[in-house]
Order: sequence, then structure tokens, then C-alpha cells
Amino acid sequence: MSLSRKWRILVQSLTLLGFCWLFLQTEYRGTDELAYPVSLLFRLDPLALVSAFFASGKTDFILLWPAFLLLVLTIIFGRFFCGWLCPLGSLLDFLGAPLRRSQSRFSGWPKFKYYLLSALTLASLCGLQLFGLFDPLSIFLRSLTLAINPVWNLLANTTFDWLYQAKLPLISSTADVVYPFFRDHLLAFRQPVFLLTILTAFVFLAVILLERLQPRFWCRNLCPLGALLGLCSQPSRLQRTPQSDCSDCKQCSLQCYMGASAADSSHAAECIRCLDCLDFCPNQRVKFHFSKRGEKRFDLSRRTLLAASVGGVMLAPLAAAAPLSASYRNDLIRPPGATGESEFLRRCIRCGECMKVCIGGALHPDLLRGGAFSLWSPVVVARLGYCEYDCTLCGQVCPTGAIKSLEIKQKRQIKIGLAVIDKNRCLPFARGQECLVCEEHCPTGKKAITFDRHKDLVESEARDLLQPRVLKELCIGCGICETRCPVAGRSAIMIISEGESRAPQGLL
Ligand code: SF4
Ligand code: SF4
Repeated sequence: MSLSRKWRILVQSLTLLGFCWLFLQTEYRGTDELAYPVSLLFRLDPLALVSAFFASGKTDFILLWPAFLLLVLTIIFGRFFCGWLCPLGSLLDFLGAPLRRSQSRFSGWPKFKYYLLSALTLASLCGLQLFGLFDPLSIFLRSLTLAINPVWNLLANTTFDWLYQAKLPLISSTADVVYPFFRDHLLAFRQPVFLLTILTAFVFLAVILLERLQPRFWCRNLCPLGALLGLCSQPSRLQRTPQSDCSDCKQCSLQCYMGASAADSSHAAECIRCLDCLDFCPNQRVKFHFSKRGEKRFDLSRRTLLAASVGGVMLAPLAAAAPLSASYRNDLIRPPGATGESEFLRRCIRCGECMKVCIGGALHPDLLRGGAFSLWSPVVVARLGYCEYDCTLCGQVCPTGAIKSLEIKQKRQIKIGLAVIDKNRCLPFARGQECLVCEEHCPTGKKAITFDRHKDLVESEARDLLQPRVLKELCIGCGICETRCPVAGRSAIMIISEGESRAPQGLL
């Protein structure tokens, strides 16, 4: 193995581990402040930069300067991010290697990703932001949050529980010593449980299993970030010679797993600067050097490019309709600090970080509540979890400003919805039973749930019953009453979006 390859594996492993470490640290650890949120790394993402720009017409340089830096470095050095730093690319190299077949006849569709990028960009320009569904960093982070992290926590906690109970000599006492480190650094504050875990895991596995068809199938054919970096690498003067096959042994075209060394030098934009060809050229002819002339890189069909762009534009009316369709759903509750619905959908890149840090387990990925284009964006599902009164973490981790970062005082003023009581299910109303649970849990300074004394006949006996009532002006819609309501199945008190701070006129 050549030195450059060893270095690359080292850099890829360190970056991947660093990314996973930041991911695990992006967690509530006893204070309402995250020292190293994983969104720091996410800010490297030029697609996040583009979506933030198209969403608001301006770019928050302070928030996303690393993405600018990556674009500038790509213009100078080419598409090195894919070969050395991208966590999904590294994972495909590590996990995909055993899946790869020694000879695959599949030639792929390397131009498809450029058409996809063009369609996504045009759709985004017209207000429909779909980058998050295809962005490799979003896919990676989302899969970690919604699928891998819950499984990891479950397995680790079950193993520790088992070791404690088994009382194995030496092993159980070692587990005693090791557990505090796991608890403080590697495990989640609570066992994460999310909707859409299976769908998310399925997409992630599909990306990995595609390695069977072709090495780095995702990167070669589908990745819009790879396409964007390929475009930016066009002026790069860091070039490889020979630019195409030198026809002696064909090792370049046989072994380059990105297909960047095909006979036609227009594939040069596929080169991810992995430097593996330094290793497999038997004549040591391959060199990377700075040159004055650029390479010929693209040969895209103009007609297909136009068709893809028109396809993207044609999705625009759907984009305009999406927030409208959401307005018919009064159960669409967004996190506190979320921007207005259409801007929110354009800014959110579906990274899932807000869901990971949500202390009360309120945030879950959406399927259809916010319309077809809201897939994987965060919604509050109050029956499963609530928004903690003293927490502002989701705004701290959001890399695109889809959720604004708030001070704790501001956050407590924000209404994300309103609790309403279903008298057909609420125990004091429906069954004449006493129940104070919702009022007990209500966290607002002055309780937003009060009781009215009511005389009722219960089993032929006149009784004084306390019946709950929501004080609309005090309720912030945190949802803890819905989470804790003891009625089985659907709660007897539910959060609806009426009166939310984003649209105070409400829906009723
Ligand atoms: S092509 Fe996409 S997924 Fe592959 S390495 Fe590059 S950015 Fe990552
Ligand atoms: S709203 Fe959540 S899922 Fe969307 S970009 Fe922000 S942190 Fe990521």
C-alpha cells in the first residue's frame, strides 16, 4: 500500500471518528448549552449554503463561512473533499469494500448527478427546497440520528444492564468503571425513539448496498454535492498527467473506482484526488502537479440539462401549494423559533440534529403533516414527547437558521401551539373521575391549566368534580400535558397550531 493511500485512510478515519464524536457530543449533558455541536462540521456543506441563500436571498457568512472556504479550496485543488473528508464517502469506502465485486460491467450514469443538481437548484430557486433529501451530509447525519444512534443506545444499555445483573467476576466490575464514561460521553441522555426509523435505515442501507453494483455508486451517479464540487473543480489547475489512458496497460481505467481515468479526459471532474493511481500505475507515470491550462471536463447533453432544469421549475407550483396544504392541518407543530412555514421548508436541510438534541423527545421527522415536501423535517409529536420549558438546544444546533437560536427568556414567550381538551375523552368530563395530571405538569410560571368546580352525579351520588380548562393566553403549546395524559391511546388533551407565534391569527 502506497504512502498516499495510508495517509488517506488515516485522514478519512480521523474525520469520520471526529464527525461521530461531535455527533455524540451534540447531546444534552446537564446544561442548556452545547459546547461542540455537530452543526460546526455541517457548516462545511455548500448545499446548506445554497439552500440558505435561496431561502432568504442572503447568506449568513458567520454561520456558513466554512462552506465558502471549501468551495475556494475545491477551485484550487479539485474535488478533494470527496476523497478525503466526506463522511459518507469514507463510510462507503470502509463498509462498501467487502460488498464490491471484482468485476462489474455496470458503467453507471455519471452525468445523472449533474442533471439532478440542476433540477434541484432550479426547484430551489423557485421556492422548493429538496437538497436536504439528497445531500450526503444530511443523509449521513439523519441516518445516525434516526436509525443508528437509537440502536446503539439500546444495545449499549442492554449490555450494561445484563453485565450488572450477571455479576460476572472481573467483567461486571470493569463495566462499573467503564459505564460512567459511556454515560457522560457516548450515550444519549434518554433512549432515543423516532418515527420513520425504518424508512431512514432503508435509505441508508440502500446507499451502502449500491456498492455491489459499482464502487462509490452514490458518489459517481447520484450525489448532488459531488456534482457541485465537480463543477467547482473545473478551473482547478491541480492536474493529473497523463490526463487520459496512456493505452499501455489500461490500469488507470480498470482500477480508478471513480471512473475518472477513462480514455476520454472529460471525466476528469470525477477525480476525487484520492491519489490511488500513483500506486497502481506500473510505470510510475502518474503525477499530480499545478499547470497553467485547465482540463476538458464536461460533456453534458444540453437537451437533458434543459429538460432537468425545466423539470425542477415545473415543481415550483407544488412548492407554493405545499405550505398551503399544511395550513389545513392543525396538528402541524414546528419547533420553537422555527421561521414561517414556507421559509422553514426552504431552509431546513433535514439533517435531524434538532431531533437528536430535543430533551423531551418532542421532535420527530415528518412524513406528510406539512405536505409532500415536508418529508423528514421536524414536527412536534406531543403524544410521544414534549418541548422542555427551559431548553433552547434545537435553535443552537440548526445549521441553516431554519430554527432561530433563542435566549431562554425569549423561548419561554414563544407559543408553538395551544392545548385543547377533548371532553369526550377527558376523565373528569367523560367518566366523572378525578384527574389532575395535565395541570400538575404544566410548566408555565402561572399555570396555563386551571380547574372549574362542577357538581356532577357519579354513580347516583352527587359529587364535586374539578374539570380542567386551558387558559389560552398562558398556554405555549409545549405539549407536556398531551404526553403525560393518562388516557390510553389518543390523549384527552391535544396540541393544535392555533395561535402559534409564527401565525398568531390561528387556524380556527
Ligand atoms: S460524491 Fe458526495 S457522498 Fe461521495 S464523497 Fe463526494 S460529497 Fe461525499
Ligand atoms: S430544522 Fe432541524 S432538521 Fe432542519 S436543518 Fe435545522 S436542525 Fe436540521
